[in-house]
Amino acid sequence: MTLGIYVHLPFCRVHCTYCAFAISTDLGREEAYVDALLREIGRASDRKVPVQTLYYGGGTPSRMSIENLARITAEIRRSFDLAADVEFSMESNPEDVTDASLAAWTELGVNRLSIGVQSFADLELSPLGRIHGRDRARDAVARAVASGLRTNLDLILGLPGQTRESFLATLDSALELGVGHVSLYMLDLEKGSPLAVQVDRGRAELPDDGLVADLYVEAIGRLEAGGLRQYEISNFARAGEECLHNLRYWTRLPYLGLGLGAHSFMAGRRFANTRDIRRYIEKSPEAGDFSELLGADEDRRETLFLGLRQTGGIDYERVAQLCGQEGIEWMDRGLRDGWLRRAGERVAFTPAGFLLSNEYISQLF
Ligand code: SF4
Repeated sequence: MTLGIYVHLPFCRVHCTYCAFAISTDLGREEAYVDALLREIGRASDRKVPVQTLYYGGGTPSRMSIENLARITAEIRRSFDLAADVEFSMESNPEDVTDASLAAWTELGVNRLSIGVQSFADLELSPLGRIHGRDRARDAVARAVASGLRTNLDLILGLPGQTRESFLATLDSALELGVGHVSLYMLDLEKGSPLAVQVDRGRAELPDDGLVADLYVEAIGRLEAGGLRQYEISNFARAGEECLHNLRYWTRLPYLGLGLGAHSFMAGRRFANTRDIRRYIEKSPEAGDFSELLGADEDRRETLFLGLRQTGGIDYERVAQLCGQEGIEWMDRGLRDGWLRRAGERVAFTPAGFLLSNEYISQLF
């Protein structure tokens, strides 16, 4: 039995126009937040289970002071038993990545850096409210790769103004820069977010759904040709550079989430902290938001949903066992219509199947 730990560091300089994460631009709260987080880490302390992965996400962890990152990391090391080869990931934004910051993060033990690039086209970055431009992003990625850290780029498909040429140029830049991992997300606009409002008012135009679908399928081939194999609906890696922390989520291994809005999955129970930063800071000990014990139905749904997010798919017999005759007919239909494929004993989505995976999976429930 091993554990993964997620730590949420919510501060950002600006609120990007599409972002729905639990974040805060009230940078004056950083010290009080870190104090509350240290208290939560201390309370959750458990040195019996080795920690295989540690993940600092946000928000923008890279904009926290190095002193505060060091305090948090020291408290984590004191409170938990980090494996000698722990995968220690940290999210960053390009404007924070310098040779000095890379050296300081490495000194803390970070060995995997995820950089929120989103796009290498300036015209696509400005409607998002991102601070960085193409040149700053290229410089940050080149420095991270040269530092020897395992490096991931977050990219977004479906951005306003994105064209086939601009998207493929972004992918080619990622490959040229030599990163070992790419996370490629579809733009998912929450109703009422500033970017959604701009789109509704005709001030920003999203690319056509058909183009986005074609580009997703093309990206899979292009990244694979560049040595980054798809292993999950949105994730691509060189062999051995898959993100072990995210794999824990998809294989339903236990993880503990600490900090604002953080989710946990322990002993079949899911629970989450509040997303209200004032409440988190002031009432940290009882700041839990929800807690649910998964019933057999939820368990079944999650096993299928998370298993099928991965290109390795799920055992044919397991689907039959979980969903009976209905599951067998569902798989036969998918194999016949081309949205599922079979690899030995397993079934998995094809690239076209991934595009509509939510709809296909919901046919089973
Ligand atoms: S930097 Fe990241 S977390 Fe912060 S507002 Fe922008 S998208 Fe959201």
